[in-house]
Amino acid sequence: MSDTAAPPTDPGAAHPLRPGSVLVADRLVRAHDPEIACPAAALVAGDLRRRGAQPVRGTLPLAAGEGPPSAAPEGGDRHAPGFTALIPGTDPPVGLGAACAADPADAAAERAAREAVDAWLAVAGTARTVLLAAPRSFCAGVERAIEVVEQALAQRGSPVYVRKQIVHNTHVVADLESRGAVFVDELDAVPEGATVVFSAHGVSPRVHQEAAERSLRVIDATCPLVTKVHTEARRYASRGDTVVLIGHAGHEEVEGTLGEAPERTVLVETPEDVAALEVADPERVSYLTQTTLATDETAAVVDALRARFPALRGPASDDICYATTNRQDALKSIAEESDLVLVVGSDNSSNSVRLVELAERCGTPARLIDDTGDIRPEWLAGARTVGLTAGASAPPGLVEAVITALGGLGPVTVHEREITRETIHFTLPSVVRPS
Ligand code: SF4
Repeated sequence: MSDTAAPPTDPGAAHPLRPGSVLVADRLVRAHDPEIACPAAALVAGDLRRRGAQPVRGTLPLAAGEGPPSAAPEGGDRHAPGFTALIPGTDPPVGLGAACAADPADAAAERAAREAVDAWLAVAGTARTVLLAAPRSFCAGVERAIEVVEQALAQRGSPVYVRKQIVHNTHVVADLESRGAVFVDELDAVPEGATVVFSAHGVSPRVHQEAAERSLRVIDATCPLVTKVHTEARRYASRGDTVVLIGHAGHEEVEGTLGEAPERTVLVETPEDVAALEVADPERVSYLTQTTLATDETAAVVDALRARFPALRGPASDDICYATTNRQDALKSIAEESDLVLVVGSDNSSNSVRLVELAERCGTPARLIDDTGDIRPEWLAGARTVGLTAGASAPPGLVEAVITALGGLGPVTVHEREITRETIHFTLPSVVRPS
């Protein structure tokens, strides 16, 4: 989430700070000197939010002296108390700072400002290496789904209704919402005859039927690789097999796939689930998988299925998609060398959560962050090498923002480790394809 933007301010001028607000420095100024950038401002702002303060962004005067934070100079800061510092070892210099309203009653904001600056300074001044996994961020299915909504808005105007989150990322959803998309949980919230987009995760035939009954103008943004799994589900069920779907209960993609042949499909997550399976005919069992599972964990479940049902049939190539596989392989190439892994993604993003789990299985502490503001200073204590990646639904700009912010704590060297280059592109559905 972005901070409330503060209007441009002159150093020494009063900022429009309300009680409880804390001004986080984007820049520090000192008489006659060039402005000093504060790339770690988003980190400080995130910390303040967790402390219950409301951050706004602007310019602060640099306190006299360098190094540890100190109260802003007398007479130079009418919104003091302010806490500012330069980060040792940076050239050109970078700094960080925060200040609250000059209100003696606002002790909580003053404490939050001081503690937030102190917390980040405690892990600043250290040279760090960022190991950047590649591929990372948007996959072809996510890019296509977002473009479907953008094209629908451009061609049909607002509102365009979207059933469920178009992709599992809070930033993508907020951005499309700000441009006129309306996200709904179910079709009964969509007015009769309106345009509705189905998300990248796919829907069951029941949802298509309901849309037809309500005369909705459907644009289906289901990823073609999810559609492939639906097709397999219908094919396996139609030949009389019990279809074992490996996936996570309640995930939207799983709900959609289960709906293709609900009477013939059973869901399993683990080898233990396989051991407990009851099927009508052990000679007629097929399996499918959710597209965003961990490759190693899924292999163990398939092995358990094959051990119980030697005649097991499955897809010619794995249903776990290329993007999920590539992001996991790229992360494996950096995880063991990292002291900490940061995965950019939302907590309902299956492939992002799988990346966190994978890093942990490699023995490295890992954290899922929606954006830079979620990073906590204590995670960086002792972390000189930070592994960085992003799930397939996370915008690439969020990764860049993390690198920028880390550079506000000290010198950062970035090494990108690219294990393969993705060239896959999916064409748009014909109903929204620009002519
Ligand atoms: S993660 Fe895979 S299945 Fe999901 S949208 Fe991306 S390419 Fe498609």
